Amino acid sequence: MKVNVEEKLGVTKFNVDEENAHIVLKKEGQDTPEYRKEFEKLVIACPVNLYKINDDGSYRFDYAGCVECGACRVLCGHTILEKWEYPKGTFGVEFRYG
Ligand code: SF4
Repeated sequence: MKVNVEEKLGVTKFNVDEENAHIVLKKEGQDTPEYRKEFEKLVIACPVNLYKINDDGSYRFDYAGCVECGACRVLCGHTILEKWEYPKGTFGVEFRYG
C-alpha cells in the first residue's frame, strides 16, 4: 500500500495559536557552524518540512503546520531550541484516524 504524505497533510487541520508559539528557536549563535549543523538535522528530520534554509543561508521556521511528533525536541531540544511544548488545549494539530 502506498501512502501519499502530501495528500494526507493537505487535509490535516490545525488550529494555530497565533499568540503563543509552541516551538521557538534560539536567536543567539545563528551565525556559528554549530548552529548550522544542528539546524541541518532538523531540515532532514522534520516530517512536514518546517525547517528550511533559504538561498541566502538564512533560516526559516514556522510552527504552524507542526504535527507535534517531537523529533526536533529530541534532536535539538538542548542545543538550538529555546522552547518546545505542546500547544495549549484546543490548539495545534487535529489528529485524525484512518
Ligand atoms: S515537532 Fe515534529 S513536526 Fe513539529 S516542528 Fe518538530 S519535527 Fe517538525
